[in-house]
Amino acid sequence: MPTTVETRPAGTEYKAASLEVSGIELAFGTNKVLRGVDLTVPAGRTACVIGPSGSGKSTLLRAVNRLLEPDAGDIRLGGDSVLRTNPDELRRRIGMVFQHFNLFPHKSVLDNITLPLRKISKLGKDEAAEAALAQLDLVGLREKASARPGNLSGGQQQRVAIARALAMKPEVMLFDEATSALDPELVKGVLSLMADLAAAGMTMVVVTHEMGFARQVADQVAFMDQGVVVEQGAPEQVFTAAESPRLRQFLSQVL
Ligand code: ADP
Ligand code: MG
Repeated sequence: MPTTVETRPAGTEYKAASLEVSGIELAFGTNKVLRGVDLTVPAGRTACVIGPSGSGKSTLLRAVNRLLEPDAGDIRLGGDSVLRTNPDELRRRIGMVFQHFNLFPHKSVLDNITLPLRKISKLGKDEAAEAALAQLDLVGLREKASARPGNLSGGQQQRVAIARALAMKPEVMLFDEATSALDPELVKGVLSLMADLAAAGMTMVVVTHEMGFARQVADQVAFMDQGVVVEQGAPEQVFTAAESPRLRQFLSQVL
């Protein structure tokens, strides 16, 4: 089975790769936060990860892109071992979007996007600007290129953060509660951009509290509790026919 697929939505190209997480364990001191996490996302598919606060969702995403080093287990991106891939290559191949955007406040929107393109992808100035503007077009914010992030709405800042990640032409995108910090009226625009990406064939892992998004957009939903994936399956299965009592209890609290 091929582990990469080429897709070409309007004006861009994605080289989506499969992601396979197996047996990941990670402790902070004596606190075992991940206790053997397994998650497989085929190329071009979207997995949503749901679960209570403190269950290890953010830690899992940070392990996938090696912001944290797992104690055991294996992570493969397009078949390549992530734990044996150098960090710069990973920054290129894995895009990450955080709850609080993590944009540089004193740099323009354009510079926020060109910076990693120049430093990590080693693009020249003009090439980086061209790539950045193409992504700003895609997220509908080209006219904000010279603005400072602080002058944009939270929803616009998050779309810039998504554009910054996409400009690197990643093979997988990780979203950690990308809409949790947004005012309610700004959530929809960011979710619809994420849904477009999923439809365009990006491989995505989306940690979210937006159950409607998980239900409509995910190919698979994984429920994490206390450092393991307790149950996973198609959205319909997870939301209407959950097997584990912990998942049923969680859903009764959030739906
Ligand atoms: P979630 O994203 O599901 O809310 P996290 O992955 O953020 O959960 O956290 C899981 C557990 O790991 C929590 O008990 C949290 O306190 C702990 N933890 C997370 N990051 C750190 C860290 N950098 N140092 C120590 N403990 C951490
Ligand atoms: Mg978290």
